[in-house]
Amino acid sequence: MTQKQRITVAHGDGIGPKIMDASLQILEAGGGQFEIEPIEIGQKVYLRGNTNGIEPALWESLRRTGILYKAPITTPQGGGYKSINVTMRKTLGLYANIRPTRSYHPFVRTKHPKVDLIIVRENEEDLYAGIEHRQTAEVYQTLKIITRPGSDRIVRYAFEYARRNNRKKVMCFTKDNIMKMTDGLFHKVFDEVALEYPEIETDHMIIDIGAARAATQPEIFDVIVMPNLYGDVVSDITAELAGSVGLAGSANVGEKVSMFEAIHGSAPDIAGLGIANPSGLLMAGVMMLVHMGQTEAAERVHNAWLLTIEDGIHTKDIFKLENSTKLVNTDKFVAAVIERLGDFPKKLAPVSYAHGISLPKAQPATIVPLGTHKKELVGVDMFIDWQTAEGRNPNELAEALKLVDSGDLELIMITNRGQSVWPNGHPDTFCTDHWRCRYQTKGENSLPGLATTHQSIVRLLHNMSEAGFDFIKTENLYRFDGQLGFSLGQGQ
Ligand code: NAD
Repeated sequence: MTQKQRITVAHGDGIGPKIMDASLQILEAGGGQFEIEPIEIGQKVYLRGNTNGIEPALWESLRRTGILYKAPITTPQGGGYKSINVTMRKTLGLYANIRPTRSYHPFVRTKHPKVDLIIVRENEEDLYAGIEHRQTAEVYQTLKIITRPGSDRIVRYAFEYARRNNRKKVMCFTKDNIMKMTDGLFHKVFDEVALEYPEIETDHMIIDIGAARAATQPEIFDVIVMPNLYGDVVSDITAELAGSVGLAGSANVGEKVSMFEAIHGSAPDIAGLGIANPSGLLMAGVMMLVHMGQTEAAERVHNAWLLTIEDGIHTKDIFKLENSTKLVNTDKFVAAVIERLGDFPKKLAPVSYAHGISLPKAQPATIVPLGTHKKELVGVDMFIDWQTAEGRNPNELAEALKLVDSGDLELIMITNRGQSVWPNGHPDTFCTDHWRCRYQTKGENSLPGLATTHQSIVRLLHNMSEAGFDFIKTENLYRFDGQLGFSLGQGQ
C-alpha cells in the first residue's frame, strides 16, 4: 500500500468548504492515501487584519507537506488586500501553472466538441512582477520582466510535460513582433529548448492570432506555453470552451511546494445552497494524486468521474435537458462518483496514468554564470516630467536640455510614449508630460559607440538637477558582447 502522504488543505470561502469536503471524500474513497493538515487562508484571515490573507502557520505546514490543496477563496472588496495566489506563487516559486482543458461532448454542452489541450503558463514574471509607479501627473508605469532562467524553466517544463504525456506538439504564444527584447527572449529560449525535443512538433504564434484561434479552433492545439499575462487570459478563454468554469482544475508547480486548485472562484452567489459543482477541485485533486505518485487512485477517481458525467448526472451549472439525465446537488454528485469507482467511461476516452505518466517535477532555474557576457555601459535614457505654461514642445525641451552641461554625453533623441518627437518630430504627435531623453557618448552619430561611465551619468544627473529638471527615472543603456541591449526607438 502507498505510504500516506501529508497534505496541507485550505477549505477556502464561499462554496470552498463544500466542494473541498466533496472532493476529499471522493479522493479517499478512490484510494487516495493522505493525511490532512487543515489550514485557514482567505476572507476570515484577511478580515482579522492580515493583509495577505494567509495564516503564518501555512508556511510551517507546507515545509512539512510540500503540497497545498486549496479551495477558492474570496478576496474582500476594497484596496489593501494582497492576492493570496500571487503571494503563494512568488513566495514559494510556483513557476509552472498547468491548466488542462478538455471537452466532454456530447455530455456537457460545448461549441467545441474536440478540445483536449494543456496550457503551461509562466507564473512568476512578466507584468505580474507588480513593480508599478506613478511618475508624472499623467503617466503610470508597470515593468514587464522576462528572464532567461524563468523562460528556460517554464519552456522546459512544457516540453517535459509533452514528452511524459505523449503529447505531439508544443506551441509558444508571444508578442515578439512588438516586444522584441522581452517576448523575443521567451521565443528565442523556446526555439533553443525545442532542439532538445526533436520528436515533438513545435510552432510559434503571435498572441493575437493565437488567442483568436484558441477561442475559435481550440481543437488544433495540444500543449501551449506562454508568458504569465497571456497565459492568464488564454487559459480562462479555453476553460470556458469546455462548458463550465466549474470543470477545470489546475496545478501550480514549484521546486519544493506545489499547489492544486480549481480555476473558478468562491462563487458567493451560490454559497450555502449545496449545489456547487465540485468537479474542478476534484480534477485538481486528481492532478495532486498523480503528482504524489498515487496514479492508481488518480485513474480510478478520474474514470469514475468521467462515467458520472457520461451518465448525465449533472450539477446545475452543466445541467441541460438535451445532455443530462439527472439534476443533482453536490452531495448526490459525490455519491454518484463514489458509486462508479472501479468503472470506466464507455463513450468518453478513459484516462490512464500508468507507465509513469505524470506531472514533471520542477527543475531549479539555470542561472547565467558571472562573467559570461562582456557588458559595456554606452549611454542612458533619462525620463523627465516636463511641460511649460505654454505647452509641450519637444524642440523647446531639447533646447533647454542642451543648455545643461552633459559632459562626455550628448542628447541624441527624445521620445514621448515611445514615439520619437525630436529631432524631426511630427507636429501632430500627441505628447504627455513624460519624456524619454536618450544620451550617449559624444562624437558618435545615431548608434552608440564608445563606452561611458557611471560617473558621467551621475554628473549629468547632478547638472540636470541644478538646472531644475525633474528626472523621474533613468535606465542605463548597455551593450552585451557587442550587441545592443536596448531598443532603438519606435519602428526600429
Ligand atoms: P467565480 O468563479 O466565483 O464565479 C463565476 C460564476 O461561475 C458564478 O456565477 C458562479 O456561481 C459560477 N461558478 C463558479 N464555480 C462554480 C462551481 N464550482 N459550480 C457551479 N457554479 C460555479 O468568479 P467571481 O464571482 O468573479 O469571483 C468570486 C470570488 O472568488 C471573488 O472574491 C474572487 O476574488 C474570488 N476568486 C478566487 C479564486 C481563487 O481562489 N483561486 C479565483 C477566482 C476568483
